Parts: sequence; structure tokens; C-alpha cells
Amino acid sequence: MSEMFKGSFTQQEPIPEEGIEAAVAVMRSGRLHRYNTAPGEIAQTVLLEQEFAAQVGAKYCLAVASGGYAMATALRAVGVKPGDQVLTNAFTLAPVPGAIAAVGAVPVFVGVTENLVIDLDDLAAKVDRADVLLLSHMRGHLADMEALMAICHAANVTVIEDCAHTMGAAWKGVPSGTQGKVGCYSCQTYKHVNSGEGGLFVTDDAEVAARAIMLSGSYMLYERHLAGPPKEAFETIRYETPNISGRMDNLRAAILRPQLRALGVQCARWNERYFEIEKGLRNTPGLTVIERAKEETIVGSSIQFLLKGWDGDAVKDVMARCAKRGVELKWFGGAEPVGFTSRYDSWRYVDAPAMPASDAVLAGIVDMRVPLTFTIEDCAQIARIIKAEVAAVFQRAHRL
Ligand SMILES: *Cc1c(COP(=O)(O)O)cnc(C)c1O
Repeated sequence: MSEMFKGSFTQQEPIPEEGIEAAVAVMRSGRLHRYNTAPGEIAQTVLLEQEFAAQVGAKYCLAVASGGYAMATALRAVGVKPGDQVLTNAFTLAPVPGAIAAVGAVPVFVGVTENLVIDLDDLAAKVDRADVLLLSHMRGHLADMEALMAICHAANVTVIEDCAHTMGAAWKGVPSGTQGKVGCYSCQTYKHVNSGEGGLFVTDDAEVAARAIMLSGSYMLYERHLAGPPKEAFETIRYETPNISGRMDNLRAAILRPQLRALGVQCARWNERYFEIEKGLRNTPGLTVIERAKEETIVGSSIQFLLKGWDGDAVKDVMARCAKRGVELKWFGGAEPVGFTSRYDSWRYVDAPAMPASDAVLAGIVDMRVPLTFTIEDCAQIARIIKAEVAAVFQRAHRL
């Protein structure tokens, strides 16, 4: 009998007791809305913003309703208008082109390399077509950020970072989300901190911060944003900026604060699991491990590998065989969007020209979540199962 994995790929850890207690205290107070405070009280949401700004070394922080909301707000705050083109990754997930569509703008997709990062040659070729790049650090893979920023800087392109998968990650020690004009993070259940839904927005730009705060629905209470810019920054924009409500509430903020304090520890635990799986997958015929750049501080909350040049049926066969043994894999090469997974040509509201080089990479990307509820032994077992099934299908295909 071949071994079976019995764990769940969608089971997260419980909210820390400290977060549960803080949440109960907020509920007992009845003051869930961020602007509903007792005299002298600082709202949980404000404390969260101050703490996260300090954690990543940003001047300003705004907590919002979701990561997608943070991205759309960032696009509006930097001045993207309906009809504008916005550069973004071909390899990403639906909320990213969705944020561009939310402001009436048009995504221009930039290709993906075999290291699963944005293709800087393709970026250089397309950079003159837009004023903004919504850069998605998809699945935690960081491009060469210095080279990327140099290309964008030379072309006067503003970079907004989608850090849904890089909260806690860094490039040469610089926290992900602080190199572009705005960094956007998600606090949704499947990301690195869990408040069900939620998002964080950081920037060093006072005007962008002020616009984002007004957009999020601050009414004229913006002076209560202690992680926001001084009130002079709101002087004009408070009349010009629409209220597009998407605030965070004190209940979510209370749950998130202890999780952010533990983020470093959690990232180290993710990486132990990631590297255990990576080690187990090395030297599998037909399977390419994604080598991570030495400049990257990664957060291994998911792992990817390539089945380069495989035909689709063989990849599907690997997935089916792994699924039978309890290992849930996702494939970015599928023609039809499935579950959370879709690809640039399944977003039919965008008129996207075919990208053959990226298609060849996407056709080989296999992806797996690594929840912290897995033990190191679970990870070793998962790797053994994948390795055996990939080898079996590969040998059959090559009549070995
Ligand atoms: C989850 C996710 C987001 C934002 O997600 P929300 O669910 O809106 O918080 C953004 N980008 C990527 C790549 C994601 O996976």
C-alpha cells in the first residue's frame, strides 16, 4: 500500500488566545467602528496601523476592508483614471486585474519568467505604455527589485506593490511593500495573517496617504489617523476626494495585532516547512525546483515547481494521482479557471494578446499551499508522494 496524506490543505491555525481575548473585549465595549472611541481611547485599528507602519518602516499606514480594496485605493490615490492602461503581471490572481478594472482602467500584462517573477525585458518593452505598474509578488517570488525600480524610475512609472504573498518577506533586507509608492497587503484567511477579510496599505507619500484615508471613508475624522499624515495634507484633497467606504473595524484589528507581533516566528515556521518540501522534491526526473535568489528573504506559505515541457494531460495525471493520495495541487496551465486559480486569458474583460513565452511557463507551474498546521514530517511525506507520482508519470511518458 502506498502512503496517504491525511491533513487538510485549507486548515489554518486558530487565532492566538491573546487575539481572541482582545476581540472579546472589543465586542464587550460595543465600539467596533474605528471612529467610535471613548474619551482618551486609541482605537484598535489605529494601534494596528501604527504598529504595522513601524514593523515595515513606512511613514504611513491605513487599514482597510481587503487586499483588493487596498490595491484599488492605491490606484485611485496615485491618480489612475478610467481608460488609463496599467501594467501588471500575467502570472497573478484575479483580484489584481480586478483592482485595475475597479477603477475603470485597462490591464496590460507583463510576462513571467521561469523563476516565476515578472519578466524585466518584457517590462522594459512595455513600460512606456502606462504611468503605473501594479506589481504582484505572486506566490512570494520577488523580482530583482533594484533592476525593476530602475526601469520604472527611468520611465517615470509609479510602482504599487501587491504584497498579498510577501507580508514578512524582503529583498536585500528591505521589507516587501516599501520600495514602490504604495505597498498593499491582505489579511484574508489564506494569507500570512488572518482576520477573515482585511487589508493594509503603506506609503511614505503624505498626499497619497491622505487621499487613501479620505477614499476609505474617513469623513472629516482624518485627524484620528495617528498613522496618517499631518492635517495640512488634507487641506485641499478633503474637498476633492470621494468617499468609497472600505474601512477596517476594531474587531479585525484586535485579532490582527498579536498575529503581526508573531509574524517573524510564523514566517520562520513556514520556511522550515517550505525547505523540507523543496529538499524532498530535488532530483526528481522531469521536475524543476524554483531556485530562490540569495537576495530574497522568503515566506514559504506556498511552494511551486515546474513540469517543464510536459503535455497538459500528463500534468493532470500527476495532479489526479497526488489527489488520490491526499495531496492537493493546483495548476496554472489549465484552460478553465478552477477554484482560486485562473490565468490572464481567462479574464475575458481584458483584451489580452497571447503571450507564448509566458504560456509555456504557465503550462508547467504546479502550486501547493503550505499551511502551518502541517508538521515537518507531513511536509516530508507530501514531498515523497509528489516525487513518486511525478516520477511514475514521467517514466511512463519516456518509456523508461
Ligand atoms: C489574495 C490576493 C490579493 C488580495 O486579496 P483580498 O482577498 O482582496 O484580501 C491580492 N493579490 C493576490 C495575488 C492575492 O492572492
